[in-house]
Amino acid sequence: MRLDVVSLAPEAFAPLLGLGVIGRAFKGGIAELHLHNPRDYATDKYKKVDDIPYGGGAGMVLKPEPVFAAVEAIPVLPRRRVLLMSPQGQPLKQADLRRWAADYDQLLFLCGHYEGFDERIRSLADEEVSIGDFVLTGGELPAATIINGVVRLLPGTVGTESCLEDESHSALLLEHPHYTRPAAFCGMEVPAVLRSGDHGAIARWRHDQQVERTRDRRPDLYALWEQQQEH
Ligand code: SAM
Repeated sequence: MRLDVVSLAPEAFAPLLGLGVIGRAFKGGIAELHLHNPRDYATDKYKKVDDIPYGGGAGMVLKPEPVFAAVEAIPVLPRRRVLLMSPQGQPLKQADLRRWAADYDQLLFLCGHYEGFDERIRSLADEEVSIGDFVLTGGELPAATIINGVVRLLPGTVGTESCLEDESHSALLLEHPHYTRPAAFCGMEVPAVLRSGDHGAIARWRHDQQVERTRDRRPDLYALWEQQQEH
């Protein structure tokens, strides 16, 4: 998959390339990352990318010309999706990551800065995405978050792909707890059922734990799961 990022802080993406399985996916050619700085497309001698808002108010606004020029210089693959990072966008879900990983061979990320984008930049985007109801200084961490989540879903990135099927947010219930050796640690015991070798009992215990955790931690998801059970 080809990933293009338009950002005033391209250095923010360097950690992705050294990040365990994600870093290996880039090195192995499963995904390729291309960084584009709108400042390189600014035409005035000061390389200006921001300006004061029409109508007044605090903060600077990202100018449209260098962002449009940066996007126009990027090769277009047949199945491309342009994602604009914005706290006003649709809240990110695992289902979005799955959809982008499966349906596209190019994702282009538009990262805002300052007070935000000139409104006309929104016309370049297919989707506006928020990583949560809070405000960061720029779109780099949101874009890097999405890149991490999408690349881990690409075939070949995660060794055991069944790990991706039963995890939290692949369905409504959260994942069950995990334990590894030692069987006892600081007075805390691994549940006996997990050491029983009884696969049926283990599966039932895990399912019960999923239900319990989801009810306790995410009543919103639990309510949806209950509705699903009724149908
Ligand atoms: N003034 C804008 C508003 O109130 O909607 C916020 C601008 S924010 C300081 C600057 C940039 O950071 C945004 O244009 C966006 O690209 C990015 N950003 C900040 N918070 C984000 C979030 N929760 N999700 C996605 N992008 C975010």
